[in-house]
Amino acid sequence: MKISRLETIHVRPRWLLVRVHTDTGLIGLGESSLEGRSLTVETMIREMSRWLIGQDPRRIEHIWQHLHRGSFYRGGPIHCSAMSGIDMALWDILGKHLSAPVHQLLGGRVRDRIRVYAWTDAGTSDDYVNAVRDLRDNCGLTAFKYNATGMMRPLSNPAALQAAVDRLGALRKIAGPQVDIAADFHGRLTLPDAKRLTKLLEPHQPMFIEEPILPGDADGLREIAESTCIPIASGERLFTRWQFQELIEKRAVRIVQPDLAHAGGISEVRRIAAMAESRDILLAPHCPLGPVALAASLQIDATCPNFFIQEHVTLGETLLKEPFGVEAGYIKVPDGPGLGIEMDESKLTNEQFDGIWDNPRFTAEDGGFAEW
Ligand SMILES: [Mg+2]
Repeated sequence: MKISRLETIHVRPRWLLVRVHTDTGLIGLGESSLEGRSLTVETMIREMSRWLIGQDPRRIEHIWQHLHRGSFYRGGPIHCSAMSGIDMALWDILGKHLSAPVHQLLGGRVRDRIRVYAWTDAGTSDDYVNAVRDLRDNCGLTAFKYNATGMMRPLSNPAALQAAVDRLGALRKIAGPQVDIAADFHGRLTLPDAKRLTKLLEPHQPMFIEEPILPGDADGLREIAESTCIPIASGERLFTRWQFQELIEKRAVRIVQPDLAHAGGISEVRRIAAMAESRDILLAPHCPLGPVALAASLQIDATCPNFFIQEHVTLGETLLKEPFGVEAGYIKVPDGPGLGIEMDESKLTNEQFDGIWDNPRFTAEDGGFAEW
């Protein structure tokens, strides 16, 4: 079997799908969405296709090594997102070729259902409360994540910190003790404020705190982790095992959050998960992206003993023949061949767009730049 062609498709709202075609007619599906940079990733995939065409798609590791190391320069969000979608598509081809789900090719599933959480973003605390009520009562969800703070000054006053405490307090009140709540700090806080706020949130027992500070400061994260009983999570902006190594070795977080569409695909996230397992660190793949990235994540979640919970923002209603279903907070492990999903071609045609999508911009109190 040989790779004959690579195809990229931009679909709303901001997703970049990759189709790897073969000379046998089998087509593998992957997702390389990189928020705000998908057009650049598409160009990278086109460049990678020059070497890929003619390769045997079943040699997944061989191809991974070539894509990662072959251009001399390696790593980073553009390169790794391009590779990630291609890697997913290769696993999809192999699964379809062998009539087996990817999780079976990875050693078989260690669980039957995957616990999921939803992302919710809203303007005011009241909006958050309504959103959480809707997720719990209408979507069958038992866990969600929200934006923990508004824009923050480098060193906040007690009122700004108290507003964040009140927001979580209101959510805990409506959600009750049975529902898990994760607080995403989005790297908006400085180290001292992250420690202060984490301490103040402790009585409301969030499931975890995500990106209390920006990625890249493993020592800072460890300092926060040592100062609180709330588990710290990070990793959505890290790529390949080499960037996760320090976090894991230093036990700077209790939960790693590689993104299947950014961190190096199924092949690499399986390795990151195993590295985390060796330090008793949990896996909670990041996935604010499309249903193909979610499908790839579910395959990994099914096989990793240290899997904890899966993020999702869509069940694939706009693209899949059979969207995923959530029951009592869980998605059943997909059992179809490959990634276990099928595109609805007419939905796909309807959702295509030019790929132009910009990250929202935020302004600090003084008119300067503020983190998303
Ligand atoms: Mg996040």
